Amino acid sequence: MIPGPVEFEPSVLQALGAPTSSHVAPGFLESFGNSLEMMKKVWICPSGQPFIVAGSGTLAMEMAAANLTEKGDNVLVVSTGYFGERYAELLKRFGAKTNVLKAETGKTVSEDELEEALKQKKYKLVTFTHVDTSTGVKVDPRPFGRLGKKYGVLTILDGVCSVAGEEIIQEEWGIDVVLTASQKAIGVPPGLALMVVSPKAMNVWRDRKTPVGSYYCDWNNWLPVMEAYSERKPSYFGTPPVNLIMALETSLKLILKEGLKERFARHERIGKAFRAAFRAMSVNTIPENETHSASTLSCPFFPEGVSGQEFMKAMAGSDVTVAPGLLPEMKSEYFRVGHMGSVNNADVMSTLGAIESALTMCGYRYEQGSGLKAALEVLK
Ligand code: PMP
Repeated sequence: MIPGPVEFEPSVLQALGAPTSSHVAPGFLESFGNSLEMMKKVWICPSGQPFIVAGSGTLAMEMAAANLTEKGDNVLVVSTGYFGERYAELLKRFGAKTNVLKAETGKTVSEDELEEALKQKKYKLVTFTHVDTSTGVKVDPRPFGRLGKKYGVLTILDGVCSVAGEEIIQEEWGIDVVLTASQKAIGVPPGLALMVVSPKAMNVWRDRKTPVGSYYCDWNNWLPVMEAYSERKPSYFGTPPVNLIMALETSLKLILKEGLKERFARHERIGKAFRAAFRAMSVNTIPENETHSASTLSCPFFPEGVSGQEFMKAMAGSDVTVAPGLLPEMKSEYFRVGHMGSVNNADVMSTLGAIESALTMCGYRYEQGSGLKAALEVLK
């Protein structure tokens, strides 16, 4: 129950263990082509250009930055935690002039604040983290799409902790790049950088005056490969991770079989159940309110009097794995519970059972069973 890598479906793992075919074998052309088609459905971006490249989520961030910025471009980075800060650092490597609009910990920036920032300077890009995995804060992408259009700014959504877990309607919401990695709600072991890019952003890239500053990330190298595989034709730039892409095809099929609406609703229900449980136990979480709380992970503080170290030790002795805090300035004050991908009601109850036991072992006084009861109410 960590925020990635998550637990994977047996059929996804079987695809990883299958004999590795040639990257131009007919069966693999089909898998790659199907995966590209299904990405457009999962992202809900029928006219977008999908990319599947070997790498982690950071590479997906880097690929969007490398292709869409040129030296001296102004970029607004909206930060709701650790990964917003990372994006600002990364963009500087490509010569972007970044301004960081930083939300107070646990909060997001309002639509007015965003508009104010966009009025002050002509930006080429604005980036934001849909769910920051260090804080559990969820940002509403819709105002970014609206204002991006109004001010002629491209929008990049870091969806590493949200795609296939939180609702995203990329095309309707007007988001230009939605990027993610395989190891979270997409449900495939780590190793794939994934993104869908709007026709508008592809045109901005085509109009570049200078070459892309990264050979591996350059869409000039990857676009012909994606286009060929879409037509089930062989192509090559860098050897694709054959088995991971077969696993991606398997997982995307499962996601679409479940139904996006149903999948988002399941994540929402499970997120609510965790928050109801923490509230019932008087355990505070980082996001300031329900609207800003992610469905994909929770970030609860250690209650007063409970030693974080002791709590994590007690959890390590249980059958449930949770993650430590990540935000540098307060990482010892909280822990993180991931609840995305194939999580079900039983996972919620066993995780909360382990958390309740660990809190009790650490001397926390509260009504035992209250968290479990509150979660059950939501799940019912
Ligand atoms: N953005 C967010 C929101 C993330 O959660 C992560 C990983 N936890 C990343 C970017 C970076 O992804 P990776 O670790 O796969 O490079």
